[in-house]
Amino acid sequence: MWKSRYWQAELWTLLFIAFVVGLIGSLFSKAALFIAVILFGYLVWNLIQLSRLFHWAFISKAIYPPSAPGIWGELFNQLYQRQRKHRKDLKKLNSIISEFRDSTRALKEGAMIISNLGEIRWFNKAASKLLGLKPSLDLGQRLFNLLRHPDFIEYEAARDYGKPLTIPSPANSELMLSISITPYNEDQRLVIIRDVTEKFHLETVRQDFVANVSHELRTPLTVITGYLEMLDPEINPNLNSVSKPLNMMRQQALNMGHLVDDLLLLSKLDSKVDTNGHKAIDINLLLDSICAEARALSGEKEQQILFHSHTNAMIQASEKQLRSAFSNLVFNAVRYTPAKGRIDIYWQESDSHHIVKVQDNGAGIDAKHLPRLTERFYRVDPGRNRSQGGTGLGLAIVKHVLEYHNAELRIESTLGKGSCFCCYFPKTK
Ligand code: ADP
Repeated sequence: MWKSRYWQAELWTLLFIAFVVGLIGSLFSKAALFIAVILFGYLVWNLIQLSRLFHWAFISKAIYPPSAPGIWGELFNQLYQRQRKHRKDLKKLNSIISEFRDSTRALKEGAMIISNLGEIRWFNKAASKLLGLKPSLDLGQRLFNLLRHPDFIEYEAARDYGKPLTIPSPANSELMLSISITPYNEDQRLVIIRDVTEKFHLETVRQDFVANVSHELRTPLTVITGYLEMLDPEINPNLNSVSKPLNMMRQQALNMGHLVDDLLLLSKLDSKVDTNGHKAIDINLLLDSICAEARALSGEKEQQILFHSHTNAMIQASEKQLRSAFSNLVFNAVRYTPAKGRIDIYWQESDSHHIVKVQDNGAGIDAKHLPRLTERFYRVDPGRNRSQGGTGLGLAIVKHVLEYHNAELRIESTLGKGSCFCCYFPKTK
């Protein structure tokens, strides 16, 4: 330990000098005076060293410290070593920062750091281009004052950053930006901004295409089903010989009608979320009427379809969409449960959720299919399912409707034993 070694040497030297000077002083019977003089000299010497230190550290720009004997020399040396290390660390840090700056400048994605209150602390070149920001003006500003799109304000207020948000750029409304926010410590958030204009346009073209095709198919289909209705062998006995193909045509036209309806509904759900049309829905009434329809659909299968209501809660939602989602689940249960099977529909609540549960003791689904079940046109057994009259879009619609209502679909199923489709609606606080 340099400290104790140097302190001891300093102390011993001082004591030795004081002793010798005291001895000499005692020869003149003035030991105390001699010691006081020498201590005063020591104090002056220390003050001189202190002033040299002050001058070197704060006034002169000299790199090397002044030389001094004893403990002061060691102090100068230690401070110099520390300063050298500090300079080295600073150099290293500067080169890391400039490397980081170069790499973020090369990034195509905009990157930005904001505080918890939304104040902009740093952004790269791409962010400044995509959002039209200027470092001289916008650093320190609140991002939410610069990005005033209502969707962004809502996204920020909800503080649910699970999914990125797509909004037009404030600098150029033709540019579509995907914005994702990741909090990475208590007071900082990383904002990543991507230009998704091309993807957005492709997606819009796809949605418009599906919506337009489905819409265009409706007219010819209405004409075909209309004529098929007229060609009823019961009214027109001449058609008895072709009654079977006519029936098949009628059935297929009906299936096609359902497919067109489902495609239209999905394309509507795909486009922008608009919760304006939402109102409080009495789920008991809704499920009651769906159960009645399910009993009619079950017909000769004579399944037991039971509705268990455990709550009178209402949900703020689109009635049409909820009806579509719940009937898809209940009608699927009817379709995939054999005759005399049992289907239970529950309306209940937990501390955090309202839950609609559709449980059957039917065919069940192999676990390997569960992750893909809500994909469009995904069928466990394509041939068999199509013959049951499904469009292959039912569960995709359920998933979308639930997402649209911030709810979640959970599926549990055991092959040969039955399935349970649960819709979890978070309770609003
Ligand atoms: P589909 O129109 O073919 O019924 P869905 O999207 O509604 O399409 O369902 C996807 C697949 O999930 C179905 O083809 C079927 O194999 C399976 N499925 C859905 N509900 C059930 C159920 N209650 N029991 C067993 N299988 C089911």
